[in-house]
Amino acid sequence: MKQYIYGVDIGGTNIKLGLFKENTLELIESREIKTPTEHQEVSIFEHIALEIQTMNQHHQISFDDLLGIGLAVPCPVKNGFVQKCPNLNWQTMDITKNMSLFLPGNVTVKVSNDATLAALGENNSLERPFQNAILFTLGTGVGGGVIIDGQILEGGTGLGGEIGHIPIPFETDELCGCGSKGCLEQVCGTKAIFKKTRLLAQTLPTSIHLDHLTVKAIFDAAKENDPVGLEVVHGVAKAIAYSASILAVVLDPEVFILGGGVSKAGQFLVDLIEQYYQPYARFHTGSVPFILAKTGNNAGIIGAAHYLKK
Ligand SMILES: [Zn+2]
Repeated sequence: MKQYIYGVDIGGTNIKLGLFKENTLELIESREIKTPTEHQEVSIFEHIALEIQTMNQHHQISFDDLLGIGLAVPCPVKNGFVQKCPNLNWQTMDITKNMSLFLPGNVTVKVSNDATLAALGENNSLERPFQNAILFTLGTGVGGGVIIDGQILEGGTGLGGEIGHIPIPFETDELCGCGSKGCLEQVCGTKAIFKKTRLLAQTLPTSIHLDHLTVKAIFDAAKENDPVGLEVVHGVAKAIAYSASILAVVLDPEVFILGGGVSKAGQFLVDLIEQYYQPYARFHTGSVPFILAKTGNNAGIIGAAHYLKK
């Protein structure tokens, strides 16, 4: 009986593994291992297979009991292939094949982008999942994932859902890691938020401690009407709202889900985004709600498990 699924989220620092029940997709156990740094085109898959073996033994199950393994990876993926992965030392590679080399032949492997699968994980964890959903992951970088008609969007080359690189025509001419200027990530990524806070603090009064900057401290200050905090937070909300309005007329989502560390600012951020979103929104897209993500760091493994089961 194929009663279990593994969802695996491969990051630059850690690899997270989750063992799920096949029927309910209930998470039985999750573990984290360090991402190996040498020969990553082989070692990552070897370490995953070994950890799965250990978890199997712990739960007295075998590879025959697995429906398969879903992998979330931090780079554009198309049909299991990656061209280049900036976060890992991977070049043109068949990820599915490389993972399968370390598994018995009857174990299915499915792979896609981590933020895309996080969107699936978040959406499918809602009490009533939507058929069309867009996730913003607001962290050090800004990423995202798109679910259209119940399916994940990879696009022609796997770049689908790279929301962090939508051009924002106001707020910044900061150079982005992608080589362009004015990307959403250069307004809403943690690094950009800290940089702007420090810059504004040179000319505006603030109670924010610049030596120990955290996103939480900046948002907390904004809630207390701190001039610097307010300016930064409004900039973030406006840029998210603007990019959401573009996505809305192209993809016609039923919901925007906000995840990642920055979204811990909570309802305060949601309310601000909605306030900026209304004037940008066209047709009836103004009624698309913004909600906060709920699965935290588990979104990737949950999404990978859901993707495998599909
Ligand atoms: Zn960019």
